Amino acid sequence: MAQIHELSENLANQIAAGEVIERPASVVKELIENSIDAGSTRIRIDFIEAGLKQIVVQDNGSGISPDQIELAFTRHATSKINNEHDLFKVATLGFRGEALASIAAVSHAEILTSDGEHIGARAAFSGGVKKSQEDAAARKGTQITVRDLFFNTPARLKYLKSPRTEIMKIVDIVNRIALGYPQISITLSNKGKVLLRTPGNGNLKQTAANVYGRHIAEKMVEFKADDPDFEINGLLSKPELTRSTRNFMSILLNGRYIKNFKLLNSIMDGYGSRLGTKHYPVAIVRINVDPLLVDVNVHPTKQEVRLSKEKELSRLITTAISDAFINNAESGLDNLKT
Ligand code: ADP
Ligand code: MG
Repeated sequence: MAQIHELSENLANQIAAGEVIERPASVVKELIENSIDAGSTRIRIDFIEAGLKQIVVQDNGSGISPDQIELAFTRHATSKINNEHDLFKVATLGFRGEALASIAAVSHAEILTSDGEHIGARAAFSGGVKKSQEDAAARKGTQITVRDLFFNTPARLKYLKSPRTEIMKIVDIVNRIALGYPQISITLSNKGKVLLRTPGNGNLKQTAANVYGRHIAEKMVEFKADDPDFEINGLLSKPELTRSTRNFMSILLNGRYIKNFKLLNSIMDGYGSRLGTKHYPVAIVRINVDPLLVDVNVHPTKQEVRLSKEKELSRLITTAISDAFINNAESGLDNLKT
């Protein structure tokens, strides 16, 4: 029998990385989430070669003090939760303390950061090993550069789709995050060519115009509703404007973009017969709820959550949307399907 032994930290990180970092878009998602959690008001993302050659995410958030950089890249090290109670009321996008360690395990990663109090620092990691750290002048905030993603995991590289598809996945996740955080100015570029820029003024309709184009945003109408547990609001396309896939519906739970088939169906139910078969709306549904009612600790990517009172929420969404059409009948929301 082979001897049982503990895996080295590095190998454990590589295994964990397989769950959190599936593709370039996962890196982009995790880094933006960190920037948001750090209180940034401006986030810039640039990638080269679908993110495989390089991804840079720069923010103006809290920064990290030099003596904490190594911890930030250590697995299960986080500033966001302290005890098991916190785990049941997660108010940040991150909490698992896995992203930076996972990213650094499968790339050449560099961080330049300053907390605005100490002199800034620059540090480099390669395949999970810290290579260097030195003082560096930097403005308050953090810039993380990820190069040669999956250079040491060839199987993962092979599994990736075409560059075009990987870019689409990056754009999709950044679009959804931007819709969840209209108060943050987000710029996404492909080797300097701007693909998305949001104003960051809190205006959802303007943000939707940047994401989907003005002609679509103009055909969208605001709606809102609440009950004792949930507060919902967002934008709905008029029934005349439909898409052939479900991909233009976004559910944003306390800002977090989540994947939830049932809630998507509740949006469709709200439209009811106003939509033809195989026609799907463009819809942005923002839900505010006490974090105590949400279990985010379901999946490493945190895109699936477990919701107490999901049925109640489903019903609220459906009625809110169908009411919006009835209430707006005079304003033309309901009968534009000519
Ligand atoms: P998590 O987000 O789950 O805490 P991460 O590995 O993503 O885990 O990040 C580890 C820690 O590094 C965070 O808890 C945070 O304190 C710090 N950190 C990461 N990114 C940033 C950033 N852009 N600005 C400030 N602090 C950051
Ligand atoms: Mg994180």
